[in-house]
Amino acid sequence: MKTFPMFLQMEGRRVVIVGGGEQAAQKTRLMLKTEAALTLVTPTPDPELAELIARGRVQQVTELSAGIFRDAALVFIATGCPALDTAAHALAKSVGALVNVVDRPALCDATTPSIIDRDPVVVAISTEGTAPVLARQLRARIETMLEPGLGSLAALAGRLRPEVARRIPHSERRFFWDWVFSGPPRQAIARGAAREAAALIKETLAHGPAPVQGSIALVGAGPGAADLLTLRALRLMQEADVIFYDRLVDPSVLELARRDAERVFVGKEVGACSWPQDRINAVVVAAARQGKRVVRLKSGDPGIFGRLTEELEAARAAGIAVEIVPGVTAASAASASLGRALTERGETDRLVLATATCRPGDPDPDWAAMIAPGTTLAIYMGAARAGALSARLCAAGVPPSVEVEIVSHASTAQENVARCTLRDLPRVMAQGQIANPAIILVRWPKSIAARNSLSTRLSA
Ligand code: SAH
Repeated sequence: MKTFPMFLQMEGRRVVIVGGGEQAAQKTRLMLKTEAALTLVTPTPDPELAELIARGRVQQVTELSAGIFRDAALVFIATGCPALDTAAHALAKSVGALVNVVDRPALCDATTPSIIDRDPVVVAISTEGTAPVLARQLRARIETMLEPGLGSLAALAGRLRPEVARRIPHSERRFFWDWVFSGPPRQAIARGAAREAAALIKETLAHGPAPVQGSIALVGAGPGAADLLTLRALRLMQEADVIFYDRLVDPSVLELARRDAERVFVGKEVGACSWPQDRINAVVVAAARQGKRVVRLKSGDPGIFGRLTEELEAARAAGIAVEIVPGVTAASAASASLGRALTERGETDRLVLATATCRPGDPDPDWAAMIAPGTTLAIYMGAARAGALSARLCAAGVPPSVEVEIVSHASTAQENVARCTLRDLPRVMAQGQIANPAIILVRWPKSIAARNSLSTRLSA
């Protein structure tokens, strides 16, 4: 190690920043996160720094002198002028200060690391200047692992240490903190429920641990690409004891689950017997009743054509804590595949998500009520019914010439896009190049409607 990481005490100390432009402002922003008092040496602060000086957050000194640097915990030199930087560096060193000169590694006693800030939890990364891009990548990875509320949990733990020492025997303390930082309190923090986390810890301190409680998360797995998962989905999958998943959940998504998590397929396999919804509800609830953390993974967004209500109600009826984690729905993924927005200003100001497959015995969807000029209609589960769909939409008054886009396997390696008119939709689908799952987008822009009504009037 050419450099050695240390966390410097900042409370009650002074940091000097020389310079008044953007580089100095960057260092000022960084140092404002600390408890140090800041002295800014510049006759000409930029507007941001001037505002900080006016508010008394930063003390301004206009003249450089060695005395300013005496007893400073840290000195940053960032004037933007190499000669001035060198002079300021010499002055600071003459009184033995610890100095960082921006962009001049040879003049630095110390460098600023990449920081992940969950104060008081702070992670600092350095590659000793060899690979800044790698440092940024590592930082991004670690950022995703440490939820925003983690600092408040650590701070709370700090405040409760004396109480824990009083109430919990030494031999059990480590177990207790493990429970705090990987059990329900941490999970509550991850959901943003800081108050619940605090209550859980205090309750356990006062009355001993509550019986293990299972939970159910109804999680959107997105359209297929694993990196379209939300961070919350990923975290829950990494904490899960058991994961129940559908046919459309991509294997690459499942690979991200905790290695020890049990995986149970509860989908419909073509030609094999499928899981009735009641049975899915029952096994999911039964697992949670055993105290397991259950993730129910559903493709796309769980609340869109995903029979979420049945599973929510089953969990609530059993008195089990249940949460919903949204996911990227197929229509959004298709929009990205097409490189085109779902709504286009002035042309389509309404987005309708509809399914062509309702409950057996239900009447067909009322297409005429769904679509009017200015609509993008995203049809889920419609590929097998393209013929009827095209005919019904035309009968509902949609011009046969409107644009239709079909995207299958959106976001995955098998992604396939086809474009045609509404009239040609059945023929294109019959060619067999579009595999399921596929979503059909029908666009009826206002301009076509206007053109059509003009031509109708002209020909009348
Ligand atoms: N909850 C899911 C939809 C489930 S219904 C979501 O929000 O996306 C299943 C239908 O979704 C499929 O028949 C198909 O129409 C659509 N679908 C799901 N994944 C898809 C994908 N990757 N590409 C295109 N359509 C998809």
